[in-house]
Amino acid sequence: MSKQIVILGAGYAGLLSALSVREYYNKDEVQVTVVNQFPTHQIITELHRLAGGSISEQAVSIPLEKLFKGKDIDLIISKVESFSVDNKEVKLANGSTLSYDALVVALGSQTGFFGIPGLEENSMVLKSVNDANKIYKHIEDRIREYAQTNNEADATIVIGGGGLTGVELIGEIVDHFPKIAKKFGVDFKDLKIKLVEAGPKILPVLPDHLIERAMTSLEARGVEFLTGLPVTGVKGNQIELKDGQTITANTLVWTGGVAALPIVGESGLEVDRGKATVNEFLQSKSHNDVFVVGDSAVAFPPEGGRPYAPTAQNAWQMGELVGYNLYAAFEGKKLEEFSPVNSGTLASLGRKDAVATVGANNTSLKGLPATLMKEASNVRYLSHITALFSLAY
Ligand code: NAD
Repeated sequence: MSKQIVILGAGYAGLLSALSVREYYNKDEVQVTVVNQFPTHQIITELHRLAGGSISEQAVSIPLEKLFKGKDIDLIISKVESFSVDNKEVKLANGSTLSYDALVVALGSQTGFFGIPGLEENSMVLKSVNDANKIYKHIEDRIREYAQTNNEADATIVIGGGGLTGVELIGEIVDHFPKIAKKFGVDFKDLKIKLVEAGPKILPVLPDHLIERAMTSLEARGVEFLTGLPVTGVKGNQIELKDGQTITANTLVWTGGVAALPIVGESGLEVDRGKATVNEFLQSKSHNDVFVVGDSAVAFPPEGGRPYAPTAQNAWQMGELVGYNLYAAFEGKKLEEFSPVNSGTLASLGRKDAVATVGANNTSLKGLPATLMKEASNVRYLSHITALFSLAY
């Protein structure tokens, strides 16, 4: 009987794992099963654009059935309820149970609320196509409501967290929503669009001159930054900040960071703060028949220091490596070490502006070159997966 590889998740890491396994093994040699909660592969690095209304849902969600057509990959659309690495068993929400010879955990992460009272119940997040659609509709509804009632809370939009997710989202909001405001007869200047960041600066991964550029660009379009002010609690539409002030807002999108998924921590894998610890080959440190890729893993560069960041580019490269390492592990060959190429950090600031550091020397880019680079990186990803899946996208 052929070996069974089960891949949990079809985000960047899971999709590329499935694809790359098929570069080494044909269908008679291994059976590949991918389980995903959604029927689509979601381009989550572009979700801010969907939430801001500048692109359609089709641009950020590709049907998995289409991607897997002719690839001899079994696709199961179901949430993974739990998995046990000691029993080599995966339980799905659809009631079925899978067993495996090798498992790839590529389940991603979730938004972290860090125990802040009332935050989860009273905010929206940006982790999926559904979330992005919800944010768009919610803001549109609030502006419509404001046109009727003049209620300031409807005119106040708060983004919690000034990392890349929060900044890219606010850039889209200030680009697109002036048109929506106009449609409802609202002066966009009446809207209060605030970004609250706990740390002393937004986008701490970028050099100071690019941070200043990002802030100036967004302030010119109406964003107010409140830095050094952690959100400490939320009661209904009251957002409490550490200095005692309260913002009343009927829109709060929380982009304060990522947290591990409980099912990874409960699986029997060795974990560090809920994420699975892996060796240089991306094999679980406790179970060598399990590879963990993307945000579910905590992986360190050989020189030590901080773990690799939970980014799309790392997830994608982890997936590609694991395809080969599954083959190497089954065939008793030497496994390859994870050594990602860092293509830089690109932050869009709406449709027409961006800041970035690229290349080995961390060259700074801003404005049009950075915008084009950001678009090119998305096109590069889409053409990579579609070429590999021989699909005209
Ligand atoms: P993040 O952890 O990078 O940023 C979250 C921000 O929220 C931090 O600046 C943090 O100080 C702030 N925060 C935390 N608690 C807070 C509080 N109580 N009140 C106010 N602010 C608070 O999270 P992210 O932006 O979602 O990014 C997650 C990962 O995804 C990162 O590795 C990032 O690099 C990557 N990412 C990359 C891109 C891109 O390359 N363009 C886009 C989005 C995300």
